[in-house]
Amino acid sequence: MERLTAKEMYRYPLPVSRWLEAAWNAGDEGRHEAVMRLADAVTFYLGTVAVGHYYQALYTGQIEADPTLSRSLGSLKRVLPGQWLLWAARGLGATADDNAGGMEQLSAWYMRPQNGGVAEAYRGLREVMVERLGYSGEYGSRETVAPRVLLEMADQYRIIRGKRLEGQASFGHDSQVAGVLLGGLEALLESSDFFTEYELYAPQQRQLLMGAKPVTPMPPMTAPGDAEGTLLLYPPGEAPDYTKRPSLQNERAPLFPLDPLLIYARCDVCDAYRVGALRGVIEGAPTYMGLDPECGHNLAAMEQEDATIIEDRA
Ligand SMILES: [Zn+2]
Repeated sequence: MERLTAKEMYRYPLPVSRWLEAAWNAGDEGRHEAVMRLADAVTFYLGTVAVGHYYQALYTGQIEADPTLSRSLGSLKRVLPGQWLLWAARGLGATADDNAGGMEQLSAWYMRPQNGGVAEAYRGLREVMVERLGYSGEYGSRETVAPRVLLEMADQYRIIRGKRLEGQASFGHDSQVAGVLLGGLEALLESSDFFTEYELYAPQQRQLLMGAKPVTPMPPMTAPGDAEGTLLLYPPGEAPDYTKRPSLQNERAPLFPLDPLLIYARCDVCDAYRVGALRGVIEGAPTYMGLDPECGHNLAAMEQEDATIIEDRA
């Protein structure tokens, strides 16, 4: 495959761009792992946004609580991939009719079956699972496939492959699956404006986390002085006009913080800031894994008082 450089990358949120780049640039050996991590990064991002939006709608009285979602968010000892998928589906499902921030489009996109690369990847992945791994689960043959279903199928694949391998490194079809799923994930990302138009911003470091490298944006990207999170999601806005002085009226307000499921924190091993996804909560203290091909380390936990936010919310 052709090598991609940071310049050529799509302008997706940092962890997604980084894993997409890694998947393209990996050799045959490493591609399967990188593509599975890319699926994780997309799933974690959608799950986080879904939960952030869900809580915002809940606190402003626009929706009723979803008991299934609340129960899952209350059991965070060790967060499993299936939990992120449940958060994405239930969180976006609960807020599908809500108008706040235009996120109902994201809900509709996530649930709506589509043709093209997403459906092709689903069929290709399912074929390998049925023929090579003896899959006979609930996900059947489909003509059109929703983004939600492709991500859930990737999780089913991970589970059944893990059981079948029993300690072996590969089952001989890894590179086929990697190619199929990489194409599907790219089609999935391209089929929604959400990943490029809603922007991820780290207010404390003043860094815009879109694309394969963090950048310090020019105005009007600013954050409220009392920004409570390390990561904020911004709605689509006009491109800044660098020839004019920034006007306060043009400032974009963030939709909601992505903490505490996704954070931007220093990794002591890398000696760099990384986006981290919640790995689990041990004795009230959350632990995070760095979502970057060069990281994967445990990120420093948040202050204890922040940890209680998770428990209160759950
Ligand atoms: Zn690290």
